[in-house]
Amino acid sequence: MKEDGEMRKQIWRRMISRRSGSEGPRHDPYSYVEFKVTINDAIFTLHMGLAEFLEVESPRGTIRVDNTNEHPNQVETLFEDLSGVDLDQLEPWYDRVHGRPNRCPRCGCRETVCHDGYVGEQIEVCAKCKKIVWCEPVSLAMIE
Ligand SMILES: [Zn+2]
Repeated sequence: MKEDGEMRKQIWRRMISRRSGSEGPRHDPYSYVEFKVTINDAIFTLHMGLAEFLEVESPRGTIRVDNTNEHPNQVETLFEDLSGVDLDQLEPWYDRVHGRPNRCPRCGCRETVCHDGYVGEQIEVCAKCKKIVWCEPVSLAMIE
Protein backbone atom coordinates (compact mmCIF):
# COMPACT_ATOMS: atom_id res chain seq x y z
CA MET A 1 0.00 0.00 0.00
CA LYS A 2 1.65 3.20 -1.12
CA GLU A 3 0.42 6.63 -0.33
CA ASP A 4 1.06 9.43 -2.74
CA GLY A 5 3.25 12.17 -1.42
CA GLU A 6 4.60 10.07 1.39
CA MET A 7 8.33 10.36 1.78
CA ARG A 8 10.06 7.07 1.34
CA LYS A 9 11.76 6.32 4.61
CA GLN A 10 15.37 5.42 4.56
CA ILE A 11 16.17 1.90 5.61
CA TRP A 12 19.35 1.62 7.65
CA ARG A 13 18.82 -1.82 9.06
CA ARG A 14 17.08 -4.92 7.75
CA MET A 15 17.52 -8.31 9.32
CA ILE A 16 15.69 -11.56 9.15
CA SER A 17 15.63 -14.76 11.13
CA ARG A 18 13.41 -17.80 10.98
CA ARG A 19 12.42 -20.37 13.52
CA SER A 20 10.32 -23.45 13.11
CA GLY A 21 9.13 -26.21 15.33
CA SER A 22 5.99 -27.55 16.82
CA GLU A 23 3.58 -26.19 19.37
CA GLY A 24 0.31 -27.16 20.95
CA PRO A 25 -0.48 -30.18 23.07
CA ARG A 26 2.04 -32.99 22.97
CA HIS A 27 -0.47 -35.52 21.69
CA ASP A 28 -1.54 -33.21 18.88
CA PRO A 29 1.45 -31.07 17.89
CA TYR A 30 1.14 -28.41 15.27
CA SER A 31 4.02 -27.15 13.20
CA TYR A 32 4.80 -23.48 13.06
CA VAL A 33 7.16 -21.12 11.35
CA GLU A 34 8.13 -17.79 12.79
CA PHE A 35 9.90 -14.99 10.98
CA LYS A 36 11.51 -12.12 12.81
CA VAL A 37 12.13 -9.19 10.55
CA THR A 38 13.91 -6.10 11.81
CA ILE A 39 13.45 -2.92 9.86
CA ASN A 40 15.32 -0.01 11.37
CA ASP A 41 14.31 -0.06 15.04
CA ALA A 42 11.07 -1.97 14.58
CA ILE A 43 10.94 -5.72 15.05
CA PHE A 44 8.17 -7.66 13.32
CA THR A 45 7.48 -11.15 14.58
CA LEU A 46 5.25 -13.13 12.27
CA HIS A 47 4.15 -16.40 13.79
CA MET A 48 2.18 -18.87 11.70
CA GLY A 49 1.11 -22.09 13.31
CA LEU A 50 -1.53 -23.11 15.79
CA ALA A 51 -1.42 -19.48 16.80
CA GLU A 52 -1.24 -16.91 14.05
CA PHE A 53 -0.07 -13.53 15.20
CA LEU A 54 1.97 -10.50 14.37
CA GLU A 55 3.88 -8.66 17.02
CA VAL A 56 5.49 -5.34 16.31
CA GLU A 57 8.00 -3.95 18.77
CA SER A 58 9.26 -0.45 18.38
CA PRO A 59 10.88 1.96 20.82
CA ARG A 60 7.44 3.47 21.31
CA GLY A 61 5.67 0.29 22.30
CA THR A 62 4.56 -3.17 21.31
CA ILE A 63 1.40 -4.28 19.58
CA ARG A 64 0.16 -7.75 18.91
CA VAL A 65 -2.56 -8.78 16.51
CA ASP A 66 -3.99 -12.28 16.26
CA ASN A 67 -5.92 -13.85 13.44
CA THR A 68 -9.49 -14.51 14.48
CA ASN A 69 -12.47 -16.17 12.88
CA GLU A 70 -13.83 -12.75 11.95
CA HIS A 71 -10.48 -11.63 10.53
CA PRO A 72 -8.67 -14.77 9.39
CA ASN A 73 -5.98 -12.99 7.34
CA GLN A 74 -5.43 -9.70 9.09
CA VAL A 75 -2.03 -10.77 10.38
CA GLU A 76 -0.68 -11.34 6.88
CA THR A 77 -2.20 -8.14 5.52
CA LEU A 78 -0.97 -6.04 8.42
CA PHE A 79 2.50 -7.47 8.17
CA GLU A 80 2.73 -6.55 4.50
CA ASP A 81 1.31 -3.07 5.05
CA LEU A 82 3.41 -2.21 8.08
CA SER A 83 6.72 -3.72 7.03
CA GLY A 84 6.45 -3.08 3.31
CA VAL A 85 7.61 -6.67 2.75
CA ASP A 86 5.61 -9.19 0.74
CA LEU A 87 5.06 -12.50 2.45
CA ASP A 88 6.36 -14.24 -0.68
CA GLN A 89 9.66 -12.41 -0.21
CA LEU A 90 10.39 -13.83 3.20
CA GLU A 91 11.61 -17.30 2.26
CA PRO A 92 13.77 -16.12 -0.68
CA TRP A 93 15.20 -13.33 1.50
CA TYR A 94 15.98 -15.71 4.24
CA ASP A 95 17.55 -18.27 1.91
CA ARG A 96 19.72 -15.64 0.28
CA VAL A 97 20.86 -14.05 3.52
CA HIS A 98 21.61 -17.28 5.29
CA GLY A 99 23.18 -18.95 2.28
CA ARG A 100 20.80 -21.87 1.99
CA PRO A 101 22.00 -23.76 -1.07
CA ASN A 102 19.58 -25.18 -3.58
CA ARG A 103 21.62 -28.30 -4.26
CA CYS A 104 23.90 -30.72 -2.46
CA PRO A 105 27.54 -29.60 -2.67
CA ARG A 106 28.75 -33.21 -2.71
CA CYS A 107 26.56 -34.94 -5.28
CA GLY A 108 24.60 -32.07 -6.81
CA CYS A 109 21.26 -33.58 -5.86
CA ARG A 110 18.54 -30.98 -5.68
CA GLU A 111 16.37 -32.89 -3.30
CA THR A 112 16.84 -32.29 0.38
CA VAL A 113 15.02 -33.56 3.43
CA CYS A 114 14.34 -31.35 6.41
CA HIS A 115 15.04 -32.52 9.92
CA ASP A 116 14.61 -30.72 13.17
CA GLY A 117 17.91 -30.09 14.84
CA TYR A 118 18.22 -28.36 18.14
CA VAL A 119 15.40 -26.23 19.44
CA GLY A 120 14.10 -23.95 16.74
CA GLU A 121 16.75 -25.11 14.36
CA GLN A 122 16.34 -26.95 11.13
CA ILE A 123 18.82 -28.97 9.16
CA GLU A 124 18.57 -30.13 5.59
CA VAL A 125 20.06 -33.40 4.52
CA CYS A 126 20.68 -34.53 0.96
CA ALA A 127 18.08 -37.10 -0.07
CA LYS A 128 20.70 -39.17 -1.90
CA CYS A 129 24.00 -39.10 -0.07
CA LYS A 130 22.71 -37.88 3.34
CA LYS A 131 25.26 -35.10 3.56
CA ILE A 132 24.09 -32.21 5.71
CA VAL A 133 23.49 -29.56 3.10
CA TRP A 134 22.49 -26.73 5.31
CA CYS A 135 21.96 -25.89 8.93
CA GLU A 136 19.63 -23.19 10.05
CA PRO A 137 21.55 -20.40 11.71
CA VAL A 138 20.03 -19.16 14.92
CA SER A 139 21.31 -15.63 14.76
CA LEU A 140 19.93 -12.70 12.87
CA ALA A 141 21.69 -11.65 9.73
CA MET A 142 21.76 -8.44 7.79
CA ILE A 143 19.98 -8.17 4.47
CA GLU A 144 22.06 -6.22 2.03
ZN1 LIG B 1 24.21 -35.35 -1.92
